[in-house]
Amino acid sequence: MANWFTGTGEDFRLLGTRCSDCASVFFPREDVHCRNPGCAGGALVEVPLSPHGRVWSYTDGRYRPPSPYVSDPELPWRPYTLIAVELPAERIVVLGQAVPGVTVTDLTVGMDVRAVPGVLYEDAETTWTTWHWRPVEVRT
Ligand SMILES: [Zn+2]
Repeated sequence: MANWFTGTGEDFRLLGTRCSDCASVFFPREDVHCRNPGCAGGALVEVPLSPHGRVWSYTDGRYRPPSPYVSDPELPWRPYTLIAVELPAERIVVLGQAVPGVTVTDLTVGMDVRAVPGVLYEDAETTWTTWHWRPVEVRT
């Protein structure tokens, strides 16, 4: 996850790359070749993505996925909510988990969400950080 995001708190941003020729934006970042088939291929420049987007689709991972999905059966399965978020400025869709505690009943298509830092995994020495999507207004 090196260089997939930057900053903390309100300055947290996902990092993508933008083609200097056709202006396509890529996330996860593309650092080798522009993936636009109609583009001759320009330099790929790192860009911070919009902090906000709109919910495009969502689902929940309430159950442990069946084999061959790799998960440790010794660990408790933690349900999560997966959101596909459209970033209108970049015209891309970015997948990510919702912040813990947000379920599909809290979400509607078109809702404004923000990228925030989240914990992917942690042990005694290290915390691996990822991004989560947090609804700007959580219905109660
Ligand atoms: Zn391009």
